[in-house]
Amino acid sequence: MASTQLQNIVKRFEGGNIAVDNVSLSVEDGGLLVLVGPSGCGKSTTLRMIAGLEQVTSGRILIGDRDVTDVGPAQRDIAMVFQNYALYPHMTVRQNLGFGLKMRRTASREVRNRVDDAAEMLQLQELLDRRPGQLSGGQRQRVALGRAIVRKPAVFLFDEPLSNLDARLRGQTRMELAALHRRLGSTMIYVTHDQTEAMTLGQIVAVMDEGVVKQIGPPLELYERPANRFVAGFLGSPPMNLIDGVYSNGQFIADDLQVPVSGFDPVPSGLMEGSRITMGFRPEHVQIGAVTDSNSIQLGSVRTRQIERLGSITLFYFKIANCSCVGQQSGNTLNEVQLSIKLERKDVHWFDVSGHRMDSIWS
Ligand code: ATP
Repeated sequence: MASTQLQNIVKRFEGGNIAVDNVSLSVEDGGLLVLVGPSGCGKSTTLRMIAGLEQVTSGRILIGDRDVTDVGPAQRDIAMVFQNYALYPHMTVRQNLGFGLKMRRTASREVRNRVDDAAEMLQLQELLDRRPGQLSGGQRQRVALGRAIVRKPAVFLFDEPLSNLDARLRGQTRMELAALHRRLGSTMIYVTHDQTEAMTLGQIVAVMDEGVVKQIGPPLELYERPANRFVAGFLGSPPMNLIDGVYSNGQFIADDLQVPVSGFDPVPSGLMEGSRITMGFRPEHVQIGAVTDSNSIQLGSVRTRQIERLGSITLFYFKIANCSCVGQQSGNTLNEVQLSIKLERKDVHWFDVSGHRMDSIWS
């Protein structure tokens, strides 16, 4: 086990494409960091640089106290699990699990013990004599995990390891992985584009976009206090509603919508009359009814364009200030076409013209 640190990592591919732009991250010993972001944001490249499969253009990578920036992959003491399990088709599960150890000339007794331990941990005992072709997708993924576990690496790296599994199996394997992390106490770095996976698995989540880490922190902190518009819109399903407008006379004005915004703390330095700002609110914070106290603000009377009943919750779609928005109610009884909607002030997020969060006294 070991901590892992990335210091000002840059990756410029031939042709000038900057895939990773000055990324600094650290994962403590035994920690689990999830790197999440849309396709092409640079997460796999970051992981591959930690693994040593890709050279850094500049910056340093430390595993434990060791600078491994120029060390080959085999000497980094890491194990990587990929989306495509890359099992050897002609070998049994037992042989697949033990192969890496054999190549490192580990004594056969030790190989057997470690393979048996991993098989027990991942409930693969009954499958040890089968070949990958005789396994389900979930079982193959567990073998791929087992192959990493037997090596007892300092750091585990996962690159979208669950994306070939169906939704149900993905959920189950995700829970198994979290349990495995608790049991092994190993340092893990996990890459995914799936924000649910990031929210549920990560102790610490780093959200990436265009080669840059946009925010890093515990998942709920990112959800509740996104530092910028990108994180606000990326985490959450359905995503946060974002309405662009201008700041004027202590009001947010967008089309026919006017909302009081007095009380920024601290007062944003660049905020002035006519500044372009964005108002954000999550679907689950949209409330139905009239405002009765000063803690809430009225958004107006809206016409529902579509209602989706998902069983435990209902989503309703409407337009406000010419923006498509979605609200969420628990239960499935919502029927009204015309709704008066409001928000608690504490549930409103504000972003400046550059997309940075502006804190209000209410937030
Ligand atoms: P995905 O979720 O789709 O795998 P990602 O976030 O993992 O995306 P990367 O694979 O890290 O993204 O790619 C980041 C950027 O670097 C992309 O624009 C990609 O096209 C580019 N890129 C990746 N590998 C190379 C390469 N070998 N040569 C040139 N550009 C590359």
